Amino acid sequence: MNGYNPGTMGRGRTMAELPRLVAVETTSRCNAKCVFCPNSALRRDRHAMAGELFEKIVEECGEFPLRAIEPFLQGEPFCDPEIVPRLEHIRRRLPRARLRLYTNGYAMGPKHVDALAGLGVDHLYVSLNTLDEGKYRQAMGLELGRTLANLDYLTDPRRRGRVARRITFRMTRLGDTSLAEQDRFLAYCRARGVRPFIVGLFNYKGDVCSTLPVPRYGCEHVHRLDILATGRVALCCMDQDGEYGWGDAREQSVLDLFRHPTARRYREMHTSGRRRSIEPCGACNNFWPGFRGMGIARALRTGLEYGAYRLACRPIGRKAPAGPSGETLAELRGRCEAAVGTAERTRAHAQDRG
Ligand code: SF4
Repeated sequence: MNGYNPGTMGRGRTMAELPRLVAVETTSRCNAKCVFCPNSALRRDRHAMAGELFEKIVEECGEFPLRAIEPFLQGEPFCDPEIVPRLEHIRRRLPRARLRLYTNGYAMGPKHVDALAGLGVDHLYVSLNTLDEGKYRQAMGLELGRTLANLDYLTDPRRRGRVARRITFRMTRLGDTSLAEQDRFLAYCRARGVRPFIVGLFNYKGDVCSTLPVPRYGCEHVHRLDILATGRVALCCMDQDGEYGWGDAREQSVLDLFRHPTARRYREMHTSGRRRSIEPCGACNNFWPGFRGMGIARALRTGLEYGAYRLACRPIGRKAPAGPSGETLAELRGRCEAAVGTAERTRAHAQDRG
């Protein structure tokens, strides 16, 4: 087993030194232009991951007990013409790892759905966001009718359970997402036998506008490994261009990348309660808590802080829009574009200063 020697580490250390999840960006291309996702503002080339590199990564994931793998990062998996053979390859080589797939569903037509049936996907997430045709077009740049036709095919009771053990439809709640819209979404999911998940907008470490505050507690994303289509490692899924990443899967093994000194430094800052002192985490409002590698006292404190955050901000679930009419998509897009510009100027300035 490459680099994996549990005998030299205590149980806690072993868990902390293995990624809980490896995310592999099989493609950085996307067919949507979501207002809440930085993909449309990517500063890197859009392309699929080379087959050889993909197979190297999967092979290395088999050298330690990996809990979960997600062949997805910033792109849309079904924009990758090789996605089905890649999923089959993962299932063959990593039979014990949970396989989770995220898609907007637009290109996941009947042919793809049939190919997924029986393949062994554990959890399929579909980013649907709204059932309002106009808002869908404005928010995602796609036509809702085609997505809904695909989802009808997917959720047909004759095939739903064969495509994935669990299916979740996700709604990202924007400033003007009304309660009626959320209720319609919930009813739609119920009628199709899938799990609904409504969540507030993340700010992608300051690159996307979101009103949710930055938590104090450590983030769970430092316990995963995110590999971009080029092979370069990103800090996490919020680091869309990999500007805070380290190392390259073309040259280093998956475990060496996870145990890289930079990765360890991020984990250490988060597990010791110093998230706010490290860039870019001090500006990121991802609210999922990380408990790994913490002592009991710190873990308890993190749990309490997370509970307080959930109560105060209600980032998950049905929630009334922020203002009397909420923020419109056009306003949000304008603010996001301005924020991306400001974030880029700040980083360029920091680089100029060396
Ligand atoms: S706090 Fe944000 S930027 Fe930092 S690791 Fe977590 S998700 Fe990534």
